[in-house]
Amino acid sequence: MEPEKAVITTETDSSLTILHGAVIITMDDDSRVFRDGAIAIAGHQIKAIGQSSQILHQLSDFATEIIDLHGHILLPGFINTHVHTSQQLARGIADDVDLITWLHGRIWPYESNMTEEDSYISTLLCGIELIHSGVTCFAEAGGQHVSGMARAVKLLGLRACLTQSTMDVGEGLPSSWAARTTDDCIQSQKENYDKHNNTADGRIRVWFGIRQIMNSTERLLLETRDAARDLKTGIHMHVSEIPYENQLVMDVHKVNHGTVTYLEKIGFLQNNLLSAHTVWVDDSEISFLSRAGVKVSHCPAAAMKMLGFAPVKEMLDAGICVSLGTDGAPSNNRMSIVDEMYIASLINKGREVYTKGTTDPTALPAETILRMVTINGAKSILWDNELGSLEVGKKADIVVVNPSSWTMVPVHDCISTMVYCMRTENVVAVMCNGVWIMKDRKIQTVDEEEVISKAKEASVELIKRAGIRLSSRMSFI
Ligand SMILES: [Zn+2]
Repeated sequence: MEPEKAVITTETDSSLTILHGAVIITMDDDSRVFRDGAIAIAGHQIKAIGQSSQILHQLSDFATEIIDLHGHILLPGFINTHVHTSQQLARGIADDVDLITWLHGRIWPYESNMTEEDSYISTLLCGIELIHSGVTCFAEAGGQHVSGMARAVKLLGLRACLTQSTMDVGEGLPSSWAARTTDDCIQSQKENYDKHNNTADGRIRVWFGIRQIMNSTERLLLETRDAARDLKTGIHMHVSEIPYENQLVMDVHKVNHGTVTYLEKIGFLQNNLLSAHTVWVDDSEISFLSRAGVKVSHCPAAAMKMLGFAPVKEMLDAGICVSLGTDGAPSNNRMSIVDEMYIASLINKGREVYTKGTTDPTALPAETILRMVTINGAKSILWDNELGSLEVGKKADIVVVNPSSWTMVPVHDCISTMVYCMRTENVVAVMCNGVWIMKDRKIQTVDEEEVISKAKEASVELIKRAGIRLSSRMSFI
C-alpha cells in the first residue's frame, strides 16, 4: 500500500488540507482500505492518498490545515442515482394509494402546479436530507423547473446531473402539460443544457429526460437519443416499473415483452441511458441492457412500496452497472441513501428465497452494496473519471463516518458495518469538490431551520393550489 507520489502545483500551494488517522475505504480498482490512512486535498482535487505516517511526513510542511480523524471512517461521497428533488414538498401526499391514484390524483396535480420557487425550495429541502446521508452527487430523475433545481444545487454545494421531466403524450395529463409538443420537449431541454450545463464550478451537468414510456412518442424517444448523443450527455428514464406498463407496450407496439424489448427494437438502448427501477424485465431484456451498456438505478424502498422485486442479482451477474437511488419523497419517503444500502442488501437476499425457494445470505454482500453507492453510481452518471473512488486526481468528494455510537459499536468488520449498522446520524461530515458542506452534522451552506420553515409554508400553499385532498385514516377530533 504505497502512497502515490504527491504532485503539488503552485496553483494549489495556497490550500492543502490533510485528513489523517482514519480508516479509508477507497473503493478503487484494488479495493484498498487504509487502516490508518490520510488524504491530501488541494483545491477541489485529491492530491495524495496513503498511510498517514507517509503522507504526513511527505506533505505536512506544505499543509495549511491538518485534521486528525482518528476513530473515523472515510469513503467516497455517496451517489444517489435516482431522486426527484421536485417531489420533496410532496412527502406524505400519496402513501398507501394505488399507482394510478398516485400519479393522476396526486403527483401530476402537485408537479404541474409547482412554481420555479417551489422547485428551488423543494430541492433545498431534499438536498439537506441527501447531504445528511453522505450524498455528494445525485441524478435528478426528471422534475419541474431545472433553473430552480440549479439555483438550489449551487447554493447547497452539491454535485448533480439535472433533468427535466419530459412527456409529449398520455392519458389524463394536466392541461399545462398536455399542450407540450415533441419539439417543445426537445427544445426546452436543449435550452436547459445551454444555460446550466457545467455551471456551479462544474458541479452541475444537464441530462435529457424521458419520464416514462407511456408518456413518450417514438419520435420523442429517438430525438432525445440523438440530441443526448450529440451533446455527449446522458438520458434518465423510468423503465419497466409495473406489469401494466409492459402490457400496454405489448399491445401498442406489438412486441413480445415490455418496455425494454420495445426500446431495443427501435435502437434506443445505449450506454448513456440510466434506466431507473427496471423491475419487470425478463432474461432476454437483461441481455439487451447488458449488451448496450445501459446503467440501472435500483431503488429498493420505492420498489417495495409500489413496484415489486427487481432482478438485481441477475442484472449484476449479467455485467450491468447497477447503482442505488432513493426515488422521490412521495414514493419512499426517506431520502437517505444510507437506509437504501441496508434495504437493498436485505430485500435482494429475501428475493432469493422468493425466486429460488431456498435461502442465500451471500447475495449482494456489503462490498457490492458499497460499490453500488460509489463507483457504480459514478459510472451510471458517466462521471467515473472524476468521482466514485478516493484516488489521486479525482474530485475531493468525501464522507466522514463516526462509528462510535450505539448504532455501530463494536466495529469488527468495518465493510459490513457500513451497510448493516450505519445510520444517517453516523455521517458527521461531508466534503464536496474540496469544500466542507457539512461539519459536525451541521450543513454549512444553507440555514436548515430557515429552509424547513419555508418548505412547510410552500408545501401547504402548493397542495392547496393543486386541489389535493387526503382522506382521513382515523377519527381526528
Ligand atoms: Zn422516479
